[in-house]
Amino acid sequence: MAATIGIDLGTTNSCVATVEGGRPTVIANAEGERTTPSVLAFSKDGERLVGAVAQRQAAVNPERTIASVKRHMGSDWRATIDGKRYTAQELSAMIVRKLRRDAEAFLGQEVTQAVITVPAYFDDAQRQATKDAGRIAGLDVMRIINEPTAAALAYGLDNGDPQKVMVYDLGGGTFDVSIIEIGGDVIEVLATSGDNHLGGDDFDERLTKHLVDEFKRQTGEDITRNLAAMQRVREAAEQAKKELSSVESTTVNLPFLAQNASGPLHFETTITRATFDTLTQDLVERTTHPVESALNDAGIAASELGCVLLVGGSTRIPAVQKHVRALTGKEPASSINPDECVACGAAMQAATLAEASTGIVRADSLLLLDVTPLSLSIETVGGVATRIVERNTTLPVHYSQIFSTATSYQTSVDVKVLQGERPMAKDNKLVGTFRLKGIKRARAGVPQIEVTFDIDANGILTVSAKDLDTGKEQSITIDDSKRMSDAEIEQAMREADEYAAQDGARRDLLTLRYDAQRMASAAQAAVSKLGKELDKDEKKTIRKNYAEVQRLLDKRLDKIKDADVEKLRAAYEELAKSSEHAREQAGIDVDADNN
Ligand code: AMP
Repeated sequence: MAATIGIDLGTTNSCVATVEGGRPTVIANAEGERTTPSVLAFSKDGERLVGAVAQRQAAVNPERTIASVKRHMGSDWRATIDGKRYTAQELSAMIVRKLRRDAEAFLGQEVTQAVITVPAYFDDAQRQATKDAGRIAGLDVMRIINEPTAAALAYGLDNGDPQKVMVYDLGGGTFDVSIIEIGGDVIEVLATSGDNHLGGDDFDERLTKHLVDEFKRQTGEDITRNLAAMQRVREAAEQAKKELSSVESTTVNLPFLAQNASGPLHFETTITRATFDTLTQDLVERTTHPVESALNDAGIAASELGCVLLVGGSTRIPAVQKHVRALTGKEPASSINPDECVACGAAMQAATLAEASTGIVRADSLLLLDVTPLSLSIETVGGVATRIVERNTTLPVHYSQIFSTATSYQTSVDVKVLQGERPMAKDNKLVGTFRLKGIKRARAGVPQIEVTFDIDANGILTVSAKDLDTGKEQSITIDDSKRMSDAEIEQAMREADEYAAQDGARRDLLTLRYDAQRMASAAQAAVSKLGKELDKDEKKTIRKNYAEVQRLLDKRLDKIKDADVEKLRAAYEELAKSSEHAREQAGIDVDADNN
């Protein structure tokens, strides 16, 4: 079977893994490293550099070096290099291409399929852009999965008891915290929070400043404007930070760091973990609020968490681990390298998907399934929300239903896509709308319009409408930002319960009015078509019953009482009975004629 890979496309670092012999394996890149800096650069002679080589030349080539592209995914942002404008997905594709090439060199075979991870809060446009980056890099992106979900898969939590898990992810430039719920065959993200501008880089910055100050104290020289010296200090600061994760004290030694009138200046100093912790204490504390707010949004106390997973290289910092322990009262799991576990989970999911497509699925492998959080409908006659996809349907979903026109000779229909549980369109959220034009002129009910809802495994919804007669088709892809937030979803579900009885009665009334209107039109059409052929008494009865139906239909909707509903139902049935013979004789079908 062809090899598949899992890619953690990170803001500062990326990682790629595969599954070998049933176990995830991180793939070392061409430079021998297990993670690759998500940095790219265009050298002066037009060469494209990706990873550590790009990072190393950043200080001397800042205008042509691009980092943190992930922050721009799904936006209109463009980078202009040599007059050419690049989108975030094109630039990310360059990183993905390197990861793919390195994986191919490692595996000794072509790699065409991958699962790529994204932060749980990424919206539809950002997910789509990530998928596009994979495609541009020549990969078939089997699925986009959430980073915290991938971490849970790496820890094998999908094979254990259902539980709620906190994933605390402190990387190089971002902090994300997610609460996920692991159930039978679904992993659901209950809440996410974080700080988009907090990560290991800030810790490096603090230590860099401390070293620059110390150098000035020792030598009197300020090196802040010396680009080359600053770059060396920054690299030394990051190195020292990493060392302080496992030792109590470390030495920074930078010979020939600068020069003054009396000659070259060397720098040597010792930093203790205690100093480092003091310098960075407030950064660690900045993770408190997002953790509390994620727990709050998920509606649980920390004590209800089954476990806490540490993700991201910066969670190796002992003070960070101590803080997580204090916040959650739990010993966080860190048995898998925190900067590798997301890629490992993605690789495991890729392998499972590949096996599923060949029909072999191991009993212990979770085919990651997501569900629609709320029902999806379209608005039909009388303002009714007609369900196409029920809530909690497992993704991916492909549903079609045939609709028709409500008015004769109507040549266009507006398709309004709704999200929510309420029966009336106006009570749900309108998430998208489009017009299908060019429908062949015909009586109401004759055109056949196929409405299709497609939600792919990544949760991206496309709605299309097709006139089966003319083949005309229109579609939209619904931007997730227009879909409902978690809070809105909960609110909608509460309201749906509250209004269930009231809504049901209203929907029945609207259906009844709709049926009565169509019956009235059909009866009238039959009477005028038959003319003198129709028995006088029969005609009289039909006219009387027709008038009664019309009178009741003329009442304003908001003035209709329960008694009126019963009267309308009785009048409708009378008219249906009395006009049955005439309609048959005239060949008038209720469904086909309701102008
Ligand atoms: P990530 O984006 O998850 O790979 O995280 C990268 C960040 O983790 C960078 O800021 C690294 O400096 C930091 N990092 C990696 N290893 C360690 C370590 N042993 N101790 C502290 N920070 C680390």
